[in-house]
Amino acid sequence: MKIPPRSAYVHIPFCYKRCFYCDFSIIPLGESVAAPGRPGINSINAYLDLIHREILNSPKGPALSTIYLGGGTPSLLNKKELGDLLEKLRRKFRFQDGAEITMEVDPATFKENDLKGYLEIGINRLSLGGQSFDDSTLASIGRKHNRSQLIEACNWVNKLFKNGMLSSWSLDLIQNLPGLNLCKWFKELEQAIETEAPHLSIYDLTIEPETVFGRKHKKGMLNIPIESEAQKIDFETNRYLKSRGFSRYEISSYSLPGHASRHNRMYWSGSGWWGFGMGATSAPWGERFSRPRTISGYKKWVEQQESQFLEKTLFIEDSSPMPMDELLMIGLRRREGVNFEELANNCGWTQKECHENLKLLEKYWLNFLKEGYVVKKNGRFFLSDPEGMQISNQILIQMFLWWDSLGLH
Ligand code: SF4
Repeated sequence: MKIPPRSAYVHIPFCYKRCFYCDFSIIPLGESVAAPGRPGINSINAYLDLIHREILNSPKGPALSTIYLGGGTPSLLNKKELGDLLEKLRRKFRFQDGAEITMEVDPATFKENDLKGYLEIGINRLSLGGQSFDDSTLASIGRKHNRSQLIEACNWVNKLFKNGMLSSWSLDLIQNLPGLNLCKWFKELEQAIETEAPHLSIYDLTIEPETVFGRKHKKGMLNIPIESEAQKIDFETNRYLKSRGFSRYEISSYSLPGHASRHNRMYWSGSGWWGFGMGATSAPWGERFSRPRTISGYKKWVEQQESQFLEKTLFIEDSSPMPMDELLMIGLRRREGVNFEELANNCGWTQKECHENLKLLEKYWLNFLKEGYVVKKNGRFFLSDPEGMQISNQILIQMFLWWDSLGLH
C-alpha cells in the first residue's frame, strides 16, 4: 500500500527526569535544565544538529497537512530552537495552508510569554500533559509539575484559544493510576471540564516492565484499580464526557465538535507519516520503520543514512509493510472501525484467503460478536461504545491469536 505521507511526527526526547510509568525514548536532563545557562544545552544542540541532518537527508514528499512535535517534552526547547526545526521541515516539504501544527507542552516547562512565541513560529494546536490534578498522585507518578502549575498552564492556553489565537488544544489525563477510585476520578474529570479544553486524551495506565511501576507491579506493590473497577471508571468517563458534549472518536480521544485532532485521525486511519528523531517510528507510504532508541544509536544511524541515502534504506533494507494485524488493531481503535475486505485487498490477499481468514477471525471473536462487543455492519467491524471499547484489550488479544494461527509472520 503506497500512501504518500502528508503528516510528520518529530520526536524531542528531552525531559527533566523519567516519570515512573514511562518507557519512551527520552533523554533526562535533570531538574536544572531550564535554569540560567541551561545545563544540558550541549545535548540539546547535538541532538538538534542530528535531527536537522535527518530531515535534510529525507526523501521528498507532498506538502504536509499535519505536523506533530511530541516527546519527551518539546517545551524544554526555546522558540528559536523550535522555529528552526519547523523551518527545516517547511523547506523540505512545504506546509499546506491551514496545516495543523501541534506541540506537546508540559506544565512547569513554559510561561505565558513562551506560548505567544510558539504561535509566532506557526504552532496552532497545543497538547498539555496534565495527567492528574491531584498533588499526591502527581508526586506518586514522578511528574515534576503540581496541581496549581497545571491549572495555571490550562488558563494560559485556554486564554489564547478563546482569543482565537490557537485553533484548538488538548489536555491529557491518565485513568487507573495507583490509588485511584471512581470517586477520585470523577473529581479529575470535573476539573478537566472546568479547564474548557475542547479535546481530552484519556489514557489507560500501561505497566511497562522496564519502569519503576513495572518493577513495583512485579513485586505486587502497585495499588492499581482492579479490572472491574477500571471498566466502571471507563464506562463512567464515557457517559460523563458525552453528557458534556464530547464524542469519543478513538478509544483514548474525546473531542467537542470540530476539535478532533487531524494528526490523530491520520494516524489511526493507517495512513503514512514521516517520523524524525531518536526512537521515532515512521510509516512513509505505509511501510513502517523505527529509529534507534538511544542517542548513540541514533547518531550512528543518521551518519549511515548520510552515506547510504535514506530513501534507499527506508524503502528496501529496513522497512517492512505494516502487517494486517497492526492495521486491524489501529482501525479498531476508531469509532468508525475498519473494513476487513478493503484491508485484506490492500495487503494483497486473494478473495479466497480473505474469505477463509475472515471466517476464522469470526470464530475467535464469536462471543464478542454474539454479545455485541464487536459489531459487523456493512462490511465494517467496529467496537461498540462503551462496552466493546472497555474490553478492547481482550478483543485484540483474540485478534492477535487469530493472526498467529495464520502463520503469516
Ligand atoms: S514527561 Fe512524558 S515523556 Fe517525559 S518521562 Fe514523563 S511521561 Fe515520559
